[in-house]
Amino acid sequence: MELLRPSSADEAKAALGNGSVALAGGTEIVPLLREGLVHADTLVHLTDAVPRGIDGTTIGAGTTLAELEVDPQIPQALRQACSLAASPQLRSMGTLGGNLLQATRCWYWRLGFDCWLHGGERCFAKDGAHREHAIFGNELCASAHPSDVAAALVALGGTLRTTARELPVAELYRLPSDDARNTTTLAPDELILEVDVPVPDASTYLKAMDRRKWAFPLVGVAAVRSAGGIRIALAGVAPIPWTVDAATALDDATPLPGTAYKVEIARVLVRRALEEVADRPRT
Ligand SMILES: Cc1cc2nc3c(=O)[nH]c(=O)nc-3n(C[C@H](O)[C@H](O)[C@H](O)COP(=O)(O)OP(=O)(O)OC[C@H]3O[C@@H](n4cnc5c(N)ncnc54)[C@H](O)[C@@H]3O)c2cc1C
Ligand code: SF4
Repeated sequence: MELLRPSSADEAKAALGNGSVALAGGTEIVPLLREGLVHADTLVHLTDAVPRGIDGTTIGAGTTLAELEVDPQIPQALRQACSLAASPQLRSMGTLGGNLLQATRCWYWRLGFDCWLHGGERCFAKDGAHREHAIFGNELCASAHPSDVAAALVALGGTLRTTARELPVAELYRLPSDDARNTTTLAPDELILEVDVPVPDASTYLKAMDRRKWAFPLVGVAAVRSAGGIRIALAGVAPIPWTVDAATALDDATPLPGTAYKVEIARVLVRRALEEVADRPRT
């Protein structure tokens, strides 16, 4: 396997596609390559090609979660989402761009089962083991989006700049369909360069997980108050980050038998998150 280290985003973009994949911190892509879930003859290292660091409201895609969680310029919801993700070691390697593009943790998918998302006929999780799976958008694939960071950025109304376009973070994602069995709208040769995150009036991120550390979200809830009102986005409940208007939206969930407990957790976390960002008169 060849390793390229382009010195600009244009060079990196030109090197992508046709059997090559982007490598940032490598905490996700290296295991996927090792397990044969992604195939590549060339790795395109992004260290010198993608911006890293925080400048006011702009964050380079190469910035690590560890850098984000301690920077006072970063809104609280994003800092909390980063600090609650993975482990300190993973956060010091894992980048913002790589986090947004991580693949599902569904064990059927990770073990290489020929399930619907892998191009097969059916979703094995729906009839099988699915305790960590979705309660919304789960008709074809019941996977649960694993990124705390994505939910926070969707609620914060972040805008991505890529090598091809500018788009709201929410539009990076789409529910997989028969025609497109993946969860992002990124082209194979498109790179995430930066994200711009407007400063909110108040924001928070709450996470229910199996362990206090090193665990993906069973349910993550980001709530953000700004001049435009309140936005709520959830992790761990649908194949993509999922927005809701209020706790009552949980009445519309379509849980599987083994994920009904998530509806109740989400309802409570949404209420708590809304209380945290409420604009209360000072006493
Ligand atoms: C044990 C474990 C626990 C974890 N727990 C959590 C958790 O609780 N919450 C959570 O949110 N995350 C969690 N993660 C995910 C972790 O945060 C990500 O693995 C990490 O952020 C990925 O970043 P990276 O730079 O290592 O990505 P890489 O592994 O380098 O890349 C990941 C993917 O993104 C692509 N890519 C990377 N950068 C770009 C870019 N700029 N433009 C286009 N494509 C790009 C790569 O080609 C690849 O497909 C966990 C991971 C592990 C292994
Ligand atoms: S939830 Fe999605 S990834 Fe998991 S088995 Fe079903 S189709 Fe495959």
